[in-house]
Amino acid sequence: MQRRELFSSLASSLKGEKKQEKQLRPPYFGDESLFHNECNRCDGVCATVCEEDIIKIADDKTPYILFSYNGCTYCDKCTDVCEFGVLKLEDKKYLNAIITINRDKCLSWSHTMCFSCKDPCLDNAIDFKAMFMPEINNKCTSCGFCISRCPTDAIDIKVL
Ligand code: SF4
Ligand code: SF4
Ligand code: SF4
Repeated sequence: MQRRELFSSLASSLKGEKKQEKQLRPPYFGDESLFHNECNRCDGVCATVCEEDIIKIADDKTPYILFSYNGCTYCDKCTDVCEFGVLKLEDKKYLNAIITINRDKCLSWSHTMCFSCKDPCLDNAIDFKAMFMPEINNKCTSCGFCISRCPTDAIDIKVL
């Protein structure tokens, strides 16, 4: 197995299970309190229509994003099916998080060649300075596609 494949297989075992202090919500909400007031009347249909399978339903019946293997395509499907006015198209925005690379955990920053996060980033938001210094630039949409690809869990999510 080539090193890059090995890294990918290691990454898949991480399943995006990052510890977050706040829940990362789908990208169409204006008022956090609506999740708590309305979602308990719903069967979590937003989670069932997400083709990327990144919406999970918490114990309190509110939806949150987990970047298990995929990311958000901003396809609008979760908001299209929300009948309780929690997710609304007029509130569409990028996911409410800042994505950064932790240099202490990143292989490239330790001079081991790795470009695993670059390929899935369709927004060209990761610059590799001098080959070994990846940094996320301001084109990042917080889509999360890079996160599960990192073999050392070096991409952090800060929920705003
Ligand atoms: S916008 Fe699409 S990909 Fe993103 S969470 Fe909603 S259904 Fe899933
Ligand atoms: S579809 Fe709307 S009401 Fe139902 S769980 Fe999702 S956000 Fe909540
Ligand atoms: S760097 Fe940003 S835009 Fe690129 S894949 Fe990661 S989260 Fe998405």
